[in-house]
Amino acid sequence: MDEIPQTISCRCCIVGGGPAGMMLGFLLARAGADTLVLEKHQDFFRDFRGDTIHPSTLEIMDELGLYDEFLKLPHQETRLLKAQVGETELPMADFTHLPTRAKFLAFMPQWDFLDFLARQAKHYPAFRLEMGAEAIGLIVEGERVAGVKVKTAQGSLEARADLMIAADGRSSLVRREARLVPKEFGAPMDVLWFRLSWKEGDPEQTFGRMDGGQILVLINRGTYWQCGYVIPKGTALELKAQGIAALKERVENLAPFLQGRAAELKSFDDVNLLTVAVDRLPLWHKPGLLCIGDAAHAMSPVGGVGINLAIQDAVAAANILAEPLSGAGPVSNELLAQVQKRREWPTKVIQGLQVVIQKRVISRVLAGTGTISPPWFLRLFIRFPVLRCFPAALVGLGIRREHVLSNERLDGTANSASG
Ligand SMILES: Cc1cc2nc3c(=O)[nH]c(=O)nc-3n(C[C@H](O)[C@H](O)[C@H](O)COP(=O)(O)OP(=O)(O)OC[C@H]3O[C@@H](n4cnc5c(N)ncnc54)[C@H](O)[C@@H]3O)c2cc1C
Repeated sequence: MDEIPQTISCRCCIVGGGPAGMMLGFLLARAGADTLVLEKHQDFFRDFRGDTIHPSTLEIMDELGLYDEFLKLPHQETRLLKAQVGETELPMADFTHLPTRAKFLAFMPQWDFLDFLARQAKHYPAFRLEMGAEAIGLIVEGERVAGVKVKTAQGSLEARADLMIAADGRSSLVRREARLVPKEFGAPMDVLWFRLSWKEGDPEQTFGRMDGGQILVLINRGTYWQCGYVIPKGTALELKAQGIAALKERVENLAPFLQGRAAELKSFDDVNLLTVAVDRLPLWHKPGLLCIGDAAHAMSPVGGVGINLAIQDAVAAANILAEPLSGAGPVSNELLAQVQKRREWPTKVIQGLQVVIQKRVISRVLAGTGTISPPWFLRLFIRFPVLRCFPAALVGLGIRREHVLSNERLDGTANSASG
């Protein structure tokens, strides 16, 4: 006889404990809405895509009264973001003039950020987080998405909710099963992701270098460099066939101060392939389901803004949905449409810019061979420091900044599912 799965009911069930899912889970629980977050991994400690905490995210932390505590976690602060094009160092984004409390970009391992959100969320009785719980299928009743089937180490579950949120990233199972099909915009590159040790005398700041058909991004994580080596899309196998020595040589040529350290890469087992995609759903919702973050719009790493957009989606969704979800009754499709309406335009603009930069800059750099030098308009950033404020505002604050409007319910009343 088939095992009868255990059923969990809640007002809102969020699939995916990444930046979008954890922030929304925290905000909804803070407003007293009975919320369950399902994360397929057992912990947050794994290689993520990106470590950047933007001034706008820090502003959200400030609005939540968590700013000082959050910044006690180990992090690096970057006030001036630089890129090296060929032999020329370009100061690209100056965050010191932003009209926010945090006038810097914080680099923090994403697991620390997610752990922090989980710890804060657990103060609210309306919050539940199930780690090692993977959504493997949707439960649909009539036209309405009513829940997900979940696989855990202890067996299978059904999580039923008045509202399901897909925050399960760029390969979202939930959006696929809900037959929500994204429009794809393409990306010319993938990223090889690996670590090399940090040593005394190394540059302090995170930076990127472009030259001779190659791009290397180095993120200072205190004791080691998190390296992102950008390769033309689909060429990972070709590179692998050349052996690890070829990758080491390229990295050492691009960042000579790493000379000798590339030996820390013993084989391609030490290197993760992160695939890059840019896509967006024409419709982010259907009855009983809303997609946010990369599940609604996969972001390119260009500009390092995907986490920021995911957080902004979560704040906007909580502003619109926290009150109805902390009451009883179904959440209307109109409310879900309001979330899309609020976040679609900023997403379109940022993705549009990412696609232009991918085509005009990244593709050209990757297709080149010889040493490159920056075009004239980028050289203007050296002569006119004021120009550095524009990329800083775009990267650091984004477009249509969200603010926390949902209230905190200190009694933490947990409302159970209406159905
Ligand atoms: C190579 C690369 C580098 C990047 N670098 C940066 C950067 O430096 N800064 C930046 O801001 N953005 C960066 N981005 C973009 C950024 O990673 C994303 O935009 C951001 O992570 C989106 O957050 P999210 O919460 O929507 O999704 P994700 O971060 O993808 O989180 C989704 C979560 O859902 C979980 N999950 C997936 N499927 C299931 C399931 N079936 N059941 C349960 N849980 C599930 C996953 O384990 C994960 O925890 C980068 C992207 C790439 C490709």
